[in-house]
Amino acid sequence: MHAPIKTDALVIGAGPVGLFQVFQLGLQGISCHVVDSLPQIGGQCMELYADKPIYDIPGIPVCTGSELIAQLAQQIQPFGASFHLEQLVTEMERLPDGRLKVSTSSDTVFSVQCVFIAAGVGAFLPRKLAIEGLQAFESQQVFHKLDGRLNLAEQHLLVAGDNDAALETAIQSAQLSEGQPASITLMHRRDRFQASEDNIAALQDLCAQGRVRFVAAQPTACIVSNGRLTGLEVLTAQGLTDTLPVDIVIASLGLSPRLGPLADWGLALERKQLPVQTDTFATHERGIFAVGDINTYPGKKKLIVCGFHEATLAAFGAAALLNPSQKTLLQYTTTSSLLHQRLGLL
Ligand code: FAD
Repeated sequence: MHAPIKTDALVIGAGPVGLFQVFQLGLQGISCHVVDSLPQIGGQCMELYADKPIYDIPGIPVCTGSELIAQLAQQIQPFGASFHLEQLVTEMERLPDGRLKVSTSSDTVFSVQCVFIAAGVGAFLPRKLAIEGLQAFESQQVFHKLDGRLNLAEQHLLVAGDNDAALETAIQSAQLSEGQPASITLMHRRDRFQASEDNIAALQDLCAQGRVRFVAAQPTACIVSNGRLTGLEVLTAQGLTDTLPVDIVIASLGLSPRLGPLADWGLALERKQLPVQTDTFATHERGIFAVGDINTYPGKKKLIVCGFHEATLAAFGAAALLNPSQKTLLQYTTTSSLLHQRLGLL
């Protein structure tokens, strides 16, 4: 466990609403840290429709999901928020002094006064192969992407999946200049891929050279010897049972959002959403706000523009909570020298 990071505010979720929350907190003079389970910022905009056009962002007639996120990233730059990516917020508890202790899957611990839950439809986490007993080998022999730290030398590598990431994992593993795996098998339930033509062509080429083996099959059981995963029993597309030798599995099956640990934080949930007050978007727990797709209130619409409004009022709510003796004045970015200072313009 690392020493706790003491900060005013923590934003859980770096989707569009979490990012705009950083901006609104910055205008209020509140510094923050941001955690997301994904390796990049952008939430649904990046994960589900990065190249698709959005037409209902005020003042922007059209932009793609990734363009919106790039603009938000630029907008929050003056506030220097710290991002902690590829980390799942797992625990949240109230400390005796009233602060909140928030912990992540990477053992990062925060001690904060305010938490902004901008968790959208849940944390985007890798889909797992549904085989009994495989979970026990997570992070030891089962991974979800090719990582430079993985030593594949002389290992039997099994890549599961039909997407570009799966094909690229098999292709890159076959092209390693040193530390070549003993064997590379790509497994998917059928011999059709949801991948680019280039990747499919490269895979077919490697299969023709015998450097990668493709198996159309579904895994049915783990084969374990002396506490180590040594193989997978599979049912082939032809209905036969086969055994594949395995030292390392890379399950590249895409991501799916899961509410996950949020359900265990002792917060009242209504149909997996957090009920909030609409003046500050505070939950019933002091210092915990919920903004964006994760919250619910009468008339709630899961739209980015609504999340932006919620983040604005939540930042005012937090300012009042953190500085109870000061009046939280409404100031315009057009004319306020204080806001210009905070925006780094002066
Ligand atoms: P999200 O974008 O879901 O981001 C939440 C983030 O929180 C995720 O990155 C997740 O990994 C992270 N997270 C969750 N739990 C944890 C945890 N415990 N630890 C760490 N990280 C966590 N809206 C519009 O207004 N206009 C549109 O045109 C539009 N088009 C859309 C098209 C599609 C196909 C889809 C699916 C949605 C569309 N939407 C549109 C809806 C819009 O994308 C959402 O309203 C918006 O993304 C909500 O933003 P958010 O920041 O609340 O949540």
